[in-house]
Amino acid sequence: MAATILDGKALAQARRAQIQEEVARFRAETGIPPGLAVVLVGDDPASRIYVRNKERACQAVGIASEQHHLPSSTSQAQLLSLIDRLNRDPRIHGILVQLPLPPHIDERAVIEAIHPAKDVDGFHPANVARLVLNQEGLRPCTPAGILALLDHAGVPLAGTEAVVVGRSNIVGKPLAMMLLHRDATVTLCHSRTRDLAAVCRRADLVVAAVGRAELIRGDWIKPGAAVIDVGINRQPDGSLKGDVAFDEAVQVAGAITPVPGGVGPMTITMLLENTLQAARQLAAGPSEATR
Ligand code: NAD
Repeated sequence: MAATILDGKALAQARRAQIQEEVARFRAETGIPPGLAVVLVGDDPASRIYVRNKERACQAVGIASEQHHLPSSTSQAQLLSLIDRLNRDPRIHGILVQLPLPPHIDERAVIEAIHPAKDVDGFHPANVARLVLNQEGLRPCTPAGILALLDHAGVPLAGTEAVVVGRSNIVGKPLAMMLLHRDATVTLCHSRTRDLAAVCRRADLVVAAVGRAELIRGDWIKPGAAVIDVGINRQPDGSLKGDVAFDEAVQVAGAITPVPGGVGPMTITMLLENTLQAARQLAAGPSEATR
């Protein structure tokens, strides 16, 4: 029997309608809308599209977004000075610096300059530490979106074998930690993992975040397992493929995300939720999470 399709687009739409109501409530209570500053340095075409999509999503739910599009010649000092200004701007509750940055700018210095209370990407070391310690804080958007999708579908996590393929700081590592906090037994795989197929075959949940089209084959999936495909691989004909061979895996899995229409829309939705969460916490005054 073919798997249930985990429809990220539909869930994202439902969540955004809810966020819109909560944004309106925040605005009525505080007199200002939640505000997100999006900083883009240079002219990377993919980054421009991501930034535009984020801005449109903000507008649709009533979050005030301001874009700072800086030339690729921008110095690190200029960028840090903009972040300092945004950190102190009371109308701005979230700051997102679109990665990658031009090579002359130290990404780490930039991420660390963002106030942790406004770090809606959840990449600041203070928020990473809070995630590891299972304390309240802003969580990275893609893994948060994956958990929302799994929870909505009622996929059980406690006690299950979860295999995450890919150990990036933005997806694989934080997701592994979140699944651990949900009592899954987590295996985190990467380019040096031996016999990846065998590791995947024992999983009740497989998450692929690699960036290699159709790396995960249908016969790597345990019958009935849940499969989350994070990969976005542009094909020569312009179409998109995930990291999972969908046509094969859909025959074996219990539930599976499509590409596109699975994880992607949930990622942007979590950015909106993080901006709202940051706005609420900043409006409530200093707390452990905002210091
Ligand atoms: P990355 O590019 O930083 O790292 C890739 C990871 O895959 C590494 O940890 C590497 O060890 C592992 N890897 C590489 N080859 C492997 C192999 N043969 N077997 C096992 N592991 C291997 O990863 P990323 O930034 O997390 O991106 C992964 C994919 O997810 C990309 O296609 C990216 O476009 C996509 N992505 C999608 C979203 C979304 O919202 N849908 C968000 C972030 C990333």
